[in-house]
Amino acid sequence: MREYHFSKFRYCCGIQCPKILWLKENMPDEFDAGVMNPVILSTGNDVGDLAMGLFGDYTEVPFTKKLGDMIPATQKFIEDAVRNICEASFSFDGCFCSVDILRNLGNKKVAFYEVKSSTGVRWIYEHDISYQYYVLTKLGYDVQKACLVHINNQYVRHGELELDKLFSIVDLTETVKEKLGEVEENIKKFREYLKNETEPECKIGCQCSDPYECGYWSHCASDMPQDNSHTVWEVASLRNKQWYYDNGYVTFEQLYDAGILEGKYLQQIEVEIKDLPPQIDKPQIKKFLSTLSYPLYFLDFETFNPAVPLYDNSSPYQQIVFQYSLHYIEKEGAVLKHKECLAYPGSDPRRQIAKQLCRDIPPDACTAAYNMGFEKGQIRALADLYPDLHDHLMNIHDNIKDIMLPFRKRWYYTKEMQGSYSIKYVLPALFPDEPGLNYHNLEGVHNGSEASNVFFAMQKMDKKELGEWREHLLRYCELDTFAMVKILEKLREAVE
Ligand code: SF4
Repeated sequence: MREYHFSKFRYCCGIQCPKILWLKENMPDEFDAGVMNPVILSTGNDVGDLAMGLFGDYTEVPFTKKLGDMIPATQKFIEDAVRNICEASFSFDGCFCSVDILRNLGNKKVAFYEVKSSTGVRWIYEHDISYQYYVLTKLGYDVQKACLVHINNQYVRHGELELDKLFSIVDLTETVKEKLGEVEENIKKFREYLKNETEPECKIGCQCSDPYECGYWSHCASDMPQDNSHTVWEVASLRNKQWYYDNGYVTFEQLYDAGILEGKYLQQIEVEIKDLPPQIDKPQIKKFLSTLSYPLYFLDFETFNPAVPLYDNSSPYQQIVFQYSLHYIEKEGAVLKHKECLAYPGSDPRRQIAKQLCRDIPPDACTAAYNMGFEKGQIRALADLYPDLHDHLMNIHDNIKDIMLPFRKRWYYTKEMQGSYSIKYVLPALFPDEPGLNYHNLEGVHNGSEASNVFFAMQKMDKKELGEWREHLLRYCELDTFAMVKILEKLREAVE
C-alpha cells in the first residue's frame, strides 16, 4: 500500500472519523458531494482572500496543482525575508500544510494565522492549528504564535472596511503546544487504520454531523432497517438520538414498544405506526383564529446575510431584507390581493423595503407571518435604523400573528408533517395534490437559502439574467404568502 499523505483537511477528516479517511481512499465514489455547500466554500475563499491583507503588504505563494511545488517557492520567500507570506507551504514526513498567513520573523522564527469565516472558535479548529504547529515545529521552526483569525460579528461597518475590526485574532499557541504529542499519535493511528484491507466497522453517531455533515452518511447508514420503517434519526428535535440508537431503540416500533418517548415525540411515532388520521384540536384552533382580524395581511421577507458587511450600519452575517411578498384581504369575504417589493442589488435595500412596507401595510392592520420571530426581528432592525419610520414599523411589528402556532403546538398534526412545523412540511401535508402549492414546481428558486444565494449572485449578473432571476425570486416569495392564505383556509375548514 502506498504511503498516505496528510493535509490540514485530511487530518481534520480523520479527527472527525477515521473511517472518512478510509472511505476517501478506498471508496471515493460513495461520497455524496451534496454535503459541500458551494456558498459556504465560496464565502470561506472570499474571507480568506480579504484576511491576507490583515497585516499589511503580503506575498502569496502561487497555487499549483502539484502542491509540492509550493514548498520551494515558500522557502525562497522566507530566504528573501518576505515579512507576510500567504499560503506558505511546508511538508514533513508526508504531512503537507499550507498556512493561510505566515509572519516571517527571521532566524526561523515564525507566527502563523489560520483564517476561518466563522464567528468564533470551533473545537475542530484547534486540531487544524495543532496539525500546522506540528508540521512547522518538526521542520525546526520556532513558532512564536499559532492563531485563529475569525470574523468579528460585533463589527459594524461605517465607510471603508476596517480589517483589524472585521477580524478577531485568537491566540491558541498554548492550546496547540499541549496537543503536539497528540498530533503525532493521531497520524500514526490514522496510518494504521488505513492499512485495513476490508472496510472497518464504525457505528454511525454524532460524529456524522459534527463538526461537518459527512458525505458518507448514505453509505454508512445503509445497514439501517430497509423495510420502510422510520428510525430514531427521524424523530423531530429529539435530543440525544445517539443514546437511543446505541441502546437498540432504532425503529419507530422499537421506540414505541419500549414506551420511552412522550409528548410530541410519542405523537409523531404513534401517528406514523398506527396510521392515525389528522390530529386536530378544534377549541385551540378556534381560539387562535379569533385573534385574527381584517384587514388581514400575509407577510414574508427574504433576506441575505453576507459574511463581509456590504453596507454601512450592517454587521457580518447580519440578515439584510431585500424582498417581501404581501397578500391581503381588506374585509371578510373580499377578494385576495397581492403586493410585492424586490430591491435591485448594488445598494443597501433596507430603506426601500422599510418605506414601501409602511406604504403597503396601514397602521393597526392585522399581519400574519409564518414563524413570526423572523419577520418581527427584521422589522425591529429596520425600525432601529430609520427613526422616521420607527413608529409605523413598530405598529406593524406589534400586530403580527403567527400562522405557524397551531402547527408548532400540534393543534393540527398529520403524519406527513413528519414531526416538523416548517411550512415546507406543513404545506405539502395539507395540500398534497395541488401543483400550484408545490415549491418543487417553481423555477430557479425553491427555498430561502436559494433566494438568498440568488440575490447575492445578482450583483454580478447581466441585465437579461437579472430579469429572469428577479422573476424567479418574485414567484418564490409570492408562494410563501399565498401558502399562508391557503393554510389559514385549511385551519378554518378544520373547525367548521
Ligand atoms: S457517515 Fe459517520 S461513520 Fe460513516 S464515515 Fe462518516 S462520520 Fe464516519
